[in-house]
Amino acid sequence: MRDILPPESARWRRFVRHFDDIVSRAGYGQIVPPLLEDIGVFHRVGEATDIVTKEMYDFVDKGERHVALRPEQTASVCRAFVQHRPATPWKVWYSGPNFRYEKPQRGRYRQFDQVGIEVLGADDPLLDVEVIALGWRFLSSLGLRKVGLSINSLGEPADRAAFVVALEAHFQSNIDRLTPESRATLLKNPLRVLDSKRPEDVSVISEAPRISDFHGEVARDSFAAVLDGLRALGIPFVVDEKLVRGLDYYRLTTFEFVGGTLDSAQNALGGGGRYDGLVEDLGGPATSGVGFAIGLDRTLLACDDEGVFPVEERNLDAFVVDTTGGTHALVLTELLRTNGFSADRAYENRSMKSQMKAADRSGARYAIIVGSDEASAGTVVLRPLREVGEQTTIGREELLSTLKKVQS
Ligand code: AMP
Repeated sequence: MRDILPPESARWRRFVRHFDDIVSRAGYGQIVPPLLEDIGVFHRVGEATDIVTKEMYDFVDKGERHVALRPEQTASVCRAFVQHRPATPWKVWYSGPNFRYEKPQRGRYRQFDQVGIEVLGADDPLLDVEVIALGWRFLSSLGLRKVGLSINSLGEPADRAAFVVALEAHFQSNIDRLTPESRATLLKNPLRVLDSKRPEDVSVISEAPRISDFHGEVARDSFAAVLDGLRALGIPFVVDEKLVRGLDYYRLTTFEFVGGTLDSAQNALGGGGRYDGLVEDLGGPATSGVGFAIGLDRTLLACDDEGVFPVEERNLDAFVVDTTGGTHALVLTELLRTNGFSADRAYENRSMKSQMKAADRSGARYAIIVGSDEASAGTVVLRPLREVGEQTTIGREELLSTLKKVQS
């Protein structure tokens, strides 16, 4: 778990604001689910996944309830839907931390942030396209150019079940060629073996049955409609039949936004899909759902690698330097701040030289200087710090109007 310090923390806020802008314009409202849920909420959605079985931070609270810090937020959104029964389609977005007890490495942390959207109660492949397009547009708008979209359809539950049986038979008959890790995975969830990138496994995987051969009519039509929709929007994609994703509840469309610069184990910036059974599993009516989550930590690493969406320099309007004791600085910064300017000052009545150094470091556009002459004359000296220009002495009553003029 990491501390996020300034100025990086400002970039995090900007990231979320930016996401908010894009998805709000598409009719999504923000949901803020709690960090803790009854552990059953997560158990019901992923009995066979590492996220749920091995990686959860769970404990018994003082009221003897078995709770867990959320490892993801889709389950919480569905739990909230069951609890509040909002009108459908329910379009929500979220942001915030999740917790998974994973092995930390670059791009993989035990507390990490995600932004995401979910739509409950609308079953339309063109909605899948809208969801994918929003994620795509968001990542592109950060400036990322090396992101790819991988997409697959897991079919309807019956298609998927038949595929899993065939897959298991294939892996069982080739078990000697699989790595010990994949043999262990096979016992729990044959689909997950497809994730392995180990060379020995890859050759067995390449000979495995393909999900598309198991798609029924519904899955075929839905997948074709999704791909046509993506083409209509000019969003490039690669169909990846090995894309099965980590959680058990996905059906039909699944997709991932793949970064071009990170290690392959950590290169998924985000992903999602359709999960038509999840609300029902949580005790609600049969409700279709589709959504995605994008990892903030990892996406910012990709931004660093591509040199886009940089940390912004601090851009204060003014830094007040007061060598007469500090009361002028106190009053002037207050005046500036209440009139909509950003302003900072030095403390401890330091020397002129030391305060000017602080002014330079602050990144402010102007230093506003008050020495004893200015204090008695009721004036201030306005000195440009980041552009060439002469300093001027102005009356205090002109300070706000002068700053407004130079700002526009
Ligand atoms: P998932 O919820 O597993 O589908 O993950 C969606 C996205 O969340 C991933 O593509 C990552 O960007 C991010 N993510 C998941 N787990 C972690 C983690 N342990 N550390 C950092 N980011 C993560």
